[in-house]
Amino acid sequence: MEQELIEMPLEAEVETKRKKREPKMEKEATPEKTIYDLPGVGAATAEKLIAVGFSDLMSIAVATPAELIDATGMGDALAKKLIAVARSSLEMGFESGDELLKRREKVQRLHTGSKALDALVGGGFETGAITECFGEFGSGKTQIGHALAVNCQAVEKDAIAVYIDTENTFRPERIIQFAKGAGLDEEQVLRNIKVARAYNSDHQMLLAEKVEDLIKKQGLNVKLVVVDSLTAHFRAEFIGRGTLAERQQKLNKHLHILAKLADKHNFCVYVTNQVMAKPDMFFGDPTQAIGGHIVAHASTFRLYLRKGKKGTRVAKLIDSPSMPEAECGFYVDESGIKDTE
Ligand code: ADP
Ligand code: MG
Repeated sequence: MEQELIEMPLEAEVETKRKKREPKMEKEATPEKTIYDLPGVGAATAEKLIAVGFSDLMSIAVATPAELIDATGMGDALAKKLIAVARSSLEMGFESGDELLKRREKVQRLHTGSKALDALVGGGFETGAITECFGEFGSGKTQIGHALAVNCQAVEKDAIAVYIDTENTFRPERIIQFAKGAGLDEEQVLRNIKVARAYNSDHQMLLAEKVEDLIKKQGLNVKLVVVDSLTAHFRAEFIGRGTLAERQQKLNKHLHILAKLADKHNFCVYVTNQVMAKPDMFFGDPTQAIGGHIVAHASTFRLYLRKGKKGTRVAKLIDSPSMPEAECGFYVDESGIKDTE
């Protein structure tokens, strides 16, 4: 089995690398202004802001005063002032409609294997965007990740899929089955999937950033990044009410990085999110997905998956920018994701 691994730094290293990286990353992203330029923000406050994900002016511009106060203990007046200054100093990137249309023309669509499921999101999972599948255990989230990792290689010959696996559910054996089902060369398909196991949320976030190295340093044509599961580590690590804001901010930052890279390098991001199927607590209400509005906001497409009759699965599209809310059935078999009937 030829599985290549992305370099996986040790946990301690992850921390120091993150600390070193963040201020630098800011300078690269916005050379003119950083959060250090905000009035009344000293080194200590800046550190606190960065630690919970407020690492650039945009994140502050869109924050609420309460979030900044929670993160730093600063006063209400200062929090409001920072937000106002961040907003006024940001160059809002307006793009004309025709430029946008030109960019939309570059969008490629990755196929799941089920025509109905592809049609639900406009003909396949889009590059340049984040698609989230949430649903209970066994609803098919991971199988779709495997299918996309294989099928993206049919879109372009040298296409690379990156699989960030947080729950140890990536199976090369399944990739072989799916590759055979799609009529692709199994060895080749396996070689073109780069898998990394993420051991905690910081590691997961770092791996997402590292995708850019694969593109820039190794020259790989990354077409797909799977984060399966997006939320499991976050949920496990941030327990209790006091930690909710921090969890949301980190998750927000993680998604921001993924969204930015997806846009910049025109790859598809597919993330999974497990929800509980406790009938007394949960009736398929999408707001119950972990990460709530943060994930909802960052994802361009959200699909809610559930088990249907006779082993089928049902996917429901939730608040998409240009597609009607709709559902379809599909099923998973040995060779892939298939249409029902
Ligand atoms: P989750 O949503 O928890 O990630 P999965 O994507 O792992 O769930 O889906 C697991 C389901 O996929 C199984 O319950 C089974 O129905 C189906 N499945 C997995 N492997 C196979 C296989 N080799 N043949 C047929 N169905 C399979
Ligand atoms: Mg899974």
